[in-house]
Amino acid sequence: MKFSTRAIHAGQDADPATGATIVPIYQTSTYTQEAVGVHKGYDYSRTANPTRAALETQLAALEDARYGCAFSSGMAATAAVLNLLSAGDHVVVTDDLYGGTYRLFARVLARYGIGFTYVDMSDLEALEAAVETNTKMFWIETPTNPLLKLIDIAAVCGLRDARHPEGQRAVVAVDNTFASPYFQSPLALGADLVVHSTTKYIGGHSDVVGGAVLTNDQALHDVVKFHQNAVGGIPSPHDAYLTMRGAKTLALRMREHERNALAIAGFLESHPQVERVYYPGLPSHPQHDLAKRQMSGFGGMLSFTLLGPQRRAIDFANRMRYFSLAESLGGVESLICHPARMTHGSIPREERERRGITDGLLRLSVGIEDLSDLLADLGDALEGSARDYSR
Ligand SMILES: *Cc1c(COP(=O)(O)O)cnc(C)c1O
Repeated sequence: MKFSTRAIHAGQDADPATGATIVPIYQTSTYTQEAVGVHKGYDYSRTANPTRAALETQLAALEDARYGCAFSSGMAATAAVLNLLSAGDHVVVTDDLYGGTYRLFARVLARYGIGFTYVDMSDLEALEAAVETNTKMFWIETPTNPLLKLIDIAAVCGLRDARHPEGQRAVVAVDNTFASPYFQSPLALGADLVVHSTTKYIGGHSDVVGGAVLTNDQALHDVVKFHQNAVGGIPSPHDAYLTMRGAKTLALRMREHERNALAIAGFLESHPQVERVYYPGLPSHPQHDLAKRQMSGFGGMLSFTLLGPQRRAIDFANRMRYFSLAESLGGVESLICHPARMTHGSIPREERERRGITDGLLRLSVGIEDLSDLLADLGDALEGSARDYSR
């Protein structure tokens, strides 16, 4: 089955009770048993719910994975994966990391005796130096946010294999939120687990928060599933329904996101008022070859800086008509964000600037509106802000 067919059909059988073509929202916490211990596979909705089960089958199919667990948020999914570890274990982490993931690692899990080393994983020597004898996990995010740097997933898996004998292998987990399963398949590149914030491209309509963990490894899945029930970070049946509805059109949406983002990246790069564009689909991106090898498309996220004073970025963001000034990403509507003041505001300025997240940087989540309207919006804001900040 090809991707679009899987997205529409996996887990979406007609309802066995009524024949309803669309999976119903089973808004129930419990299930009546025929006799003590005799039931249809469901006894309590934290443990399992038919709407969530349909979503889990669909999300696993999107990553071509055997197993899937759905969660109430991307962070709950990430926490469930970290539940694989115990006090004394060590994790090597991408340094250009989603802020919420950094907060969970540094301010929650570090207190439980788990060690974290943050490293630029695109530098394989630095990565190798960060590995300790107690390293049990590699946490990869690629492309990164907001600078769209790429990590070579297969290379990290290769390093892991070389360092760890079979049987004591560290787990490679990839947060695949930015690329979406339509453009990147970490499991096929050797990763053990994929994590998604389904809030973003998979849900796709900015109306539901959710997360997922997908794997082909039954032993890993069993532990994640155990913690899903033991900790309880599950999505409601209604949230599961909304995510499932959104995911059916993922292929269609991703193609449009990418088409618009490629055109906008090209437009910005050739505009005399733009200093630099960060988009893996541009031949000028330093890892464009890796992007072509590792991804089947370049996605809908891009960042850029303008010429002139850095405060011009804020003036520019305030001028947009169709790009809403908002955090988050991956919905059908275009968004603009000023990372230094918004998504990455909690990182101290010095550390932020060391990573390249300056006050002049702007990030776009390119939506699927008509391209000509988006280009006109950007062009007008560039002209308007050029008048105010002519060099
Ligand atoms: C949003 C996001 C998360 C967290 O997901 P939530 O659904 O907001 O909990 C994790 N990783 C990445 C890359 C994200 O963009």
